[in-house]
Amino acid sequence: MSPVPSALDIASDLIRMDTRNPPGREAECAHYLADLLAGAGLEVSCHDFAPGRTSLVAVLRGGGGEADKRKPLCFGGHIDVVPLGAKEWSVDPFGAEIVDDRLYGRGSTDMKSGVAAFVHAAMKLAADGARGKADIVLAICAGEETGCEGSSHLGRIGAVGEAGAIVIAEPTANYPFLGHKGALWLKVESEGVTAHGSMPERGVNAIYRAARAITKLEDFDFNVKPHELLGRSTLNVGTVEGGLNLNSVPDRAAFTVDIRTLPEQDHAEIVSGLEGYLGGESRIARIVDVGGVHTPHTHPWIREVHALMETVLDEEIEPRGAPYFTDASALTPACGHPPTVILGPGEMHMAHQTDEYCPVAHIRQAAEIYETLARRWRGC
Ligand SMILES: [Zn+2]
Repeated sequence: MSPVPSALDIASDLIRMDTRNPPGREAECAHYLADLLAGAGLEVSCHDFAPGRTSLVAVLRGGGGEADKRKPLCFGGHIDVVPLGAKEWSVDPFGAEIVDDRLYGRGSTDMKSGVAAFVHAAMKLAADGARGKADIVLAICAGEETGCEGSSHLGRIGAVGEAGAIVIAEPTANYPFLGHKGALWLKVESEGVTAHGSMPERGVNAIYRAARAITKLEDFDFNVKPHELLGRSTLNVGTVEGGLNLNSVPDRAAFTVDIRTLPEQDHAEIVSGLEGYLGGESRIARIVDVGGVHTPHTHPWIREVHALMETVLDEEIEPRGAPYFTDASALTPACGHPPTVILGPGEMHMAHQTDEYCPVAHIRQAAEIYETLARRWRGC
């Protein structure tokens, strides 16, 4: 068997593949990882949610009899990246250059380094042959940035089964985070009847309807208690569009709403609540619908993770929540709601930035943490 490539080498290879989403095109990246992991002895399956939009699931089988077998430990991450933005980069965004111990490139922080670190850890475990008493499952997803499309697909088709715990390798500077809010992004449309602008009494103005709805939303109350870790659910109207031209009564207007929810909130209930609240003048469509997740810091496995991380980071670990959503929104329910921690290399503020980079030391450290977590989970 060939030697295990370093997490840094894998991350660099991943950055050199352009997986900007839209359009995504994760297939090359997914097949590169599939070859690597299959070559190391993992069972690999690829799953496209659309042409070229490939996610993969890789399983490192554990040994032992059924009696003492534990549920798998699952590592999750995504291989799509966000667009480059309008500002010019001072480095090649797909060059994977290393300058001052920082690995530069789109996706270096969010989150190809995290994926590379757990791929490396799994390959190391495979190479040393100790089987332990649990499978290790890697869920490497396409289409996260536009609303967890790949991970939702993996959940829908049953490509990931039950797990005992999940590690999502999104950037946290390797600090363990215990959850995040969900995101419910809506498009709200109002219809009217067009007429000449000089005779507005002959039409029904869709913009007035939308404006009434928007004004009402400013006062919308979710009527839920703030979450101990994640705070309040929020609502923001982000964009408005409508009208044909200056001198017509508009027969259509639309606006978008970004709602961040708490893990216990039911999105279908929120939508029906909003429909009732806005009355019959608005039609609501869901654009992104991903739930929140949270594991209490008192959970025994979280205590184990915290104890490990206090040693690794040499600081006291307090319960924290992540500001962004992750594939945990889809993977945690698909795996039967096991405890879930978000922990990965890269500074959070570098995600989606111009000149994105990840400290090389984070990548090495993350790979070691993942290997330790996996060994402890399997008991070998
Ligand atoms: Zn991400």
